[in-house]
Amino acid sequence: MEINLISDTVTKPTKGMIDFMLTCEVGDDVFKEDPTVNKLEKKVAELFNMERALFFPSGTMTNQTAIKINTNPGDQLICSKTAHIYNYEGGGVSFNSGVSCKLIDRERGFFNADDVLNTINPPDFYHSPKTSLVCVENTTNKGGGACWELHDLKEIKQVCKKNNLKFHLDGARIWNAAVKKNQDFFEFGNLFDTISVCLSKGLGCPVGSLLLCSEKDYSEAIRIRKVFGGGMRQSGYLAACGLYALDNNIKRLSDDHDRALEISMVLKELSFVKKVEEVETNIIIFEIHQKHNPDSFIDILKNKGVKLIAMGDNKLRLVTHMEYTQNHHEYFLDLLRNISL
Ligand SMILES: *Cc1c(COP(=O)(O)O)cnc(C)c1O
Repeated sequence: MEINLISDTVTKPTKGMIDFMLTCEVGDDVFKEDPTVNKLEKKVAELFNMERALFFPSGTMTNQTAIKINTNPGDQLICSKTAHIYNYEGGGVSFNSGVSCKLIDRERGFFNADDVLNTINPPDFYHSPKTSLVCVENTTNKGGGACWELHDLKEIKQVCKKNNLKFHLDGARIWNAAVKKNQDFFEFGNLFDTISVCLSKGLGCPVGSLLLCSEKDYSEAIRIRKVFGGGMRQSGYLAACGLYALDNNIKRLSDDHDRALEISMVLKELSFVKKVEEVETNIIIFEIHQKHNPDSFIDILKNKGVKLIAMGDNKLRLVTHMEYTQNHHEYFLDLLRNISL
């Protein structure tokens, strides 16, 4: 048995996806002449009710492009201290945009409208950086796959409007959030200036992300994508995977969520597990007691064919995905129940 629960990015394209990929027409997308890329961009823009979408090679590049569009050098953005843009994009916020981050320290990657209000630098106080952007993540990755409530996002949006701030959504796993909470994608489109979404996580594509934005921001985004080296040629083959995934792989995410919840319930019963974060979607973060070494737990599981990742502070992470089948699930739950550290 080979079970990789390190991330939902480990999935390989299925036969159905590859077959569909091979039927698609391609062209040179740098000249905007790839019909499959154009089709994907139109489909995703419509899904979120936003004016335009632009296809990118990675979620990091879509986030970084959005930050570049929404800020000027010297500005400051507001985000959670667990945010992907702050922790896992190689310092791109400062490298690419000359922007700093003001962090909000709340549980699970969330914050509220008051937190934002209290974090904005006074615009006439020219000694401090100008606050120009608020970024939220849905689902929250380091926060353990938690989902935002729409009314919280709406309240933050009001603060952004009143204070002339742009509002960006890092929606790498927005599909998981919408399925879990039964939300319509256009609800997010109505709230944010820019949204980045990933195809290469729960949806099972090999590569790909899209930036959703207004017509005006689109012309800026395509220029910045070029500057970042993200203009691709016959990328229709990759976009085809996205079209296939949108039609076939969204609804099934609830299987990943159900399995993650079941894993978390088994973990809670284990004597060496100190705490399991509440599971909402496909990410399980749990902590083992201080007297145990997380690396030895990782090794034991590895010897039984299961891979997972350490997150520091005696915390570990598991992520369920398309390739984690019911068979794998039953094997893994059994393994967990019988493990001793
Ligand atoms: C995965 C991820 C991204 C994008 O990462 P890439 O590896 O560049 O595609 C952005 N934000 C969050 C929250 C993510 O989990």
